[in-house]
Amino acid sequence: MEESAIKFKTASKEQMPLLRQDESEGRIFPYLYYPLLEKTGMVKHCFTTRMGGVSKGIFESLNLSFTRGDERAAVEENFRRVSWALGIEYKNFVFTDQTHTTNVRRVGREDAGKGLIRERGYTDVDGLITDEPGLILSTFYADCVPLYFVDTKHRAIGLSHSGWRGTVGRMGEATLRAMQREFQTEPKDVVCAIGPSICQNCYEISEDVAMEFQKEFPQYINEILLEKGQGKYQLDLWRTNEIVLLEAGIMQEHLSVTNICTCCNEKLLFSHRASQGRRGNLGAFLCIKEV
Ligand SMILES: [Zn+2]
Repeated sequence: MEESAIKFKTASKEQMPLLRQDESEGRIFPYLYYPLLEKTGMVKHCFTTRMGGVSKGIFESLNLSFTRGDERAAVEENFRRVSWALGIEYKNFVFTDQTHTTNVRRVGREDAGKGLIRERGYTDVDGLITDEPGLILSTFYADCVPLYFVDTKHRAIGLSHSGWRGTVGRMGEATLRAMQREFQTEPKDVVCAIGPSICQNCYEISEDVAMEFQKEFPQYINEILLEKGQGKYQLDLWRTNEIVLLEAGIMQEHLSVTNICTCCNEKLLFSHRASQGRRGNLGAFLCIKEV
């Protein structure tokens, strides 16, 4: 795809995260990144797009799911391209097992490759934390919200998947708590990003889901929920996750919130809603630089 052709739809003029096109040996690999996370100097990270991979059809082209019907060899090649573009090692990816829990697992050197080149050996893990340099925390998306955490003081990181269940269960806070327990992390030292996911306009929910948010976030209800009538609501997952993180002690100036919607950009990103489930997975990756 031509560079000029890559334009994300956003609500505001600026776009966050930014797009970078890694070019070498004649290959182009576009990915999204946060200047705020890069500025820490401590991590490598990205949020992938649909572009730059080898998968076909509904998986075109950078599908990162092994379980939705794509060819295994194509998905492996897609992971190879992610590792090449970020300058990280293929054998060091560590996967979540995302089931909309608020379970956070500490991973270490012994977990390298789990999910990609060997069996995971764990289930129901929606967040990963580590202080091991080179290990690539790996989470997967098609509308749900990625949360990135970088503790610059204790050199530890976290990466979490937060759909509506994770959001109402305060996954952001659960991840920080786990980092606090394992690495003595204090929220004031943590730089955070909320990644590309479905926007309020595109995200219609039913009344029973709306009620759960009403119960958990009563004082913010006008900011996060829009009533559409006939028992339908629109939920702002970006703002709700921001509230969760700020209430957990993250400083506003340490927080970067996306304005890229997966569903508004279904040609560039995978969206479960926009494709009615016929789609691949995007990936969020975060890794402490090796020195
Ligand atoms: Zn949208």
